[in-house]
Amino acid sequence: MDLLKFQIIAFVPLLLCIPLAHGWGIDGHLIICRIAQSRLSRAANNAVSQLLPAYASDDLGSVCSWADRVRFRYHWSAPLHYIDTPDDLCTYQYKRDCKDADGIADRCVAGAINNYTNQLLTYGNGKSASQYNFTEALLFLSHFIGDIHQPLHVGFSSDRGANTIDVHWYRRKTVLHHVWDSNIIETAEKRFYDSNVDELIDTLQKNITTVWSTQAKAWAACSKTTCPDIYASEGIKAACDWAYKGVSEDSILEDDYFLSRIPVVNLRLAQGGVRLAATLNRIFG
Ligand SMILES: [Zn+2]
Repeated sequence: MDLLKFQIIAFVPLLLCIPLAHGWGIDGHLIICRIAQSRLSRAANNAVSQLLPAYASDDLGSVCSWADRVRFRYHWSAPLHYIDTPDDLCTYQYKRDCKDADGIADRCVAGAINNYTNQLLTYGNGKSASQYNFTEALLFLSHFIGDIHQPLHVGFSSDRGANTIDVHWYRRKTVLHHVWDSNIIETAEKRFYDSNVDELIDTLQKNITTVWSTQAKAWAACSKTTCPDIYASEGIKAACDWAYKGVSEDSILEDDYFLSRIPVVNLRLAQGGVRLAATLNRIFG
């Protein structure tokens, strides 16, 4: 009995230490969802307000990391946060790559975006009892459009999207995947934005309406309701050109890496926000 108790006590801190390497960190998702919510049409804004849980107080950003919090309870959802592509090819193909470790088709972040988009397209179509939970569908979709814009969520198979590449972020030990989930954003917030995420969001929003305004129209364009294959193809290219580039086991990443990669992170956060809004506007339009 005592041994069992010890095992339980010893096991809990261990669990808490396992890094949650399943997407942008909380701030990355918050940034993307805040940008998106500010760009919603009236119809989409109404639908989102109706679907958000009461505790979100009408703030999509506050529940944008919900999908990471439920991935132990919803064990089936874990492979839906990323795509593994063949090592060193630097390309993505839906048919070849969108499957889970057991080879089941469509179980990747691109397949999940299509699935939850299709579910939400049936919202308000007159049937009183739906087979879908539209609140969960909205929270999953908002999270996964964020994840697919994190370059290392469309990474190489053998290193699990750089989760097995140990590096130093300045003086701290971490893994390359986590650098792109959180460290680059956190260092930028500290250094350029007074540790205030709202100021970073403001800056990105200003750029979207000024220097990026022409590009932003192209980011939003999609011949279907949503275009995850485009987002994923850009992702693996950015992973090869910027995330993996020049990094090996135990690399020390500091200003050279940070200052040359921060524009890529800013771009992906802005694209994620613009595309989440465009997708929701097309769904609820
Ligand atoms: Zn995730």
